[in-house]
Amino acid sequence: MENNMNRLDRQSFLGPDSDTLLHECTVGLVGLGGGGSHVVQQLAHLGVGGYVLVDPDRIDFSNTNRLVGGTLADVEAQALKVSIAERVIRGVQPEARIISVADTWLEATDDLKRCDVIVGAVDSYKERDQLEGFARRHLIPYVDMGMDVTDLGNNGFLISGQVISSLPGGPCLRCCGLVTDARLEMEAQAYGVAGGRPQVVWSNGVLASTAAGLVVQLITPWFPSSPEFVYLEYDGNKGIVRPHGQMGLLKGRKCPHHPAEETGDPLFDIRKHLARLESRSKVAEVERVPLWRRLISFFRNDCS
Ligand SMILES: [Zn+2]
Repeated sequence: MENNMNRLDRQSFLGPDSDTLLHECTVGLVGLGGGGSHVVQQLAHLGVGGYVLVDPDRIDFSNTNRLVGGTLADVEAQALKVSIAERVIRGVQPEARIISVADTWLEATDDLKRCDVIVGAVDSYKERDQLEGFARRHLIPYVDMGMDVTDLGNNGFLISGQVISSLPGGPCLRCCGLVTDARLEMEAQAYGVAGGRPQVVWSNGVLASTAAGLVVQLITPWFPSSPEFVYLEYDGNKGIVRPHGQMGLLKGRKCPHHPAEETGDPLFDIRKHLARLESRSKVAEVERVPLWRRLISFFRNDCS
């Protein structure tokens, strides 16, 4: 523990209890590609203790231009992206609490709903719309990040992106105009036609660093009056991250898209909940037996 405290000494300005707060919180990360792999790495260095890692994909050669932590040996082994992320975390925090789900986030909802914050680094508007809806329903702050490259014809290309901190009750991705029915429709029409979106490592890094900062701001705000709703835009051609115009306009507005009556888990089953509590208390009972007594018991059973 002392080593841990020393390791984090230089970030003690985050607050007197920041080490404990970061250690005890659990962050859900959906999407561990170019953006998500950066966020994982930073949260591990920061001392975040718990992770729910979700990505169904395995690394391939074309990911090695941007997937932080991914190696050619991983490509050879066709490693899961969640496994690469887990290795990156354990490199600085061997004892981290990690749940890895190599599937879509819809298969990880039981684990995600216990997170303190969810970070979405996913490609499609549909997925981020649904993921935000899930986070709202369970009253979990959601941080969304995304980047884009636009062909400007004779003027080359524009690298852009955004990071949004979406809190229950406050403005959402639809309020921001990021998710719209028109975009969802266009995406649905183009499904299966479009290839992978262009991405580069440095702009993913800027957006991921911004997202990691927002996660820390939610857990252990290091300055007074930190804003609850944050909408930052990135102009990669100018090298600027700044508040989006909508951030000021939407400040203090209530979101009409995720009403209060749509909170709570519609699939909550008290029997499953009680069964889980019971199994946890059994585990706790086992853990309360002193180690020497468990060893004696083990050898007795083994020899009999
Ligand atoms: Zn809204």
